[in-house]
Amino acid sequence: MSDCLAAVVTGVLAPVELQRVSLPDLDDGGILARVDAATLCGTDVHYWQGDLIPPGTTPYVPGHETAAIVEEVRGDRRDILGQPVVKGDRIIVSYPYCGHCYFCTVAHQTNLCMNSYAFGRQRADVFPYVQGGCAEYHYYPALSDVVKVPEEVSSPLAASAACALRTVVHGFERLGAIEPHETVVVQGCGPLGLYASALARDRGAAKVIVIGAPAERLAVATDWGADEVLNIDEATEASDRIEWVRERTRGIGPDVVVQCASSAANPEGLAMVRRGGRFLAIGVEGRDITLPGGLITVKSLQVNGVIGAVGRHFYKALQFLATRSDRFPFERLISGTYTLDTVTDALQAMSEFREVKPVVLPRAG
Ligand SMILES: [Zn+2]
Ligand SMILES: [Zn+2]
Repeated sequence: MSDCLAAVVTGVLAPVELQRVSLPDLDDGGILARVDAATLCGTDVHYWQGDLIPPGTTPYVPGHETAAIVEEVRGDRRDILGQPVVKGDRIIVSYPYCGHCYFCTVAHQTNLCMNSYAFGRQRADVFPYVQGGCAEYHYYPALSDVVKVPEEVSSPLAASAACALRTVVHGFERLGAIEPHETVVVQGCGPLGLYASALARDRGAAKVIVIGAPAERLAVATDWGADEVLNIDEATEASDRIEWVRERTRGIGPDVVVQCASSAANPEGLAMVRRGGRFLAIGVEGRDITLPGGLITVKSLQVNGVIGAVGRHFYKALQFLATRSDRFPFERLISGTYTLDTVTDALQAMSEFREVKPVVLPRAG
């Protein structure tokens, strides 16, 4: 076996092509795994639209949320619990890191490694070729954190844990404990926002409020434990939304705001959070925003950003899915199912908000 089928992005907004892509000869510690499920993320749509990705990155295999079954391992490879990684293991894997830069060694933030790179946006015509989920096989390099998927977690949900949920878990770690009297507002009701509302509920918040659209996704948020939701298609002015939230938070604003929408929502979230409150920014896009100069100081805010995650967040994300499925109907997150030859349709549907979390099954179709 020297190659496999893959969906390949060849240009900005170009139809994704079904191509044969080379498979790598494994280097020491390398893993080759059969993709069981790949879910798509808003970031995949941004990349396809030419945002958040350096020019000239094509051709690449999209998809950075992948659950895969180990086919071949070269050398001794362990998961984050120290167990050997062997053929047949179902795994999710962190982005690679170098292990010797400041971020890896001193800061212990391998997600910020200076030599890291993201899956789902690496050239498919140079070694190791297959580093995206929309292919039959996926290569994982020696320096990356491997986490085995518990039996009770489906591959599509495990895949969604490999970006959306692990980032939210990481963000909540940075926020610190949520106390039983606190109100959490979540901006956005895509996969990040839905997972954030479930986690806020699970961490014991007194009240969880979700602001977003469309109505069907807000219904999922309600299902996942949101006490109140506000549809931004109906409340179109930020000032009205801030006032609506203030009326429900003793006139002072929420203790915590988790921005899971877009950087464009940061000014509204920072204006909404109470004085002395905590703000977590997860959603991102490229445009500039402006903030009142004194805002963070005068309101005495704790502001956190988060990107990516490390092995423990992947592990905790999978444990959350495995242990809380009776409380939160997680499967409602997964929307349409696609195959390697319909990835364009999936990206298009996401860009038009017709899909929440589409799954690509490379071995179907
Ligand atoms: Zn993502
Ligand atoms: Zn590093």
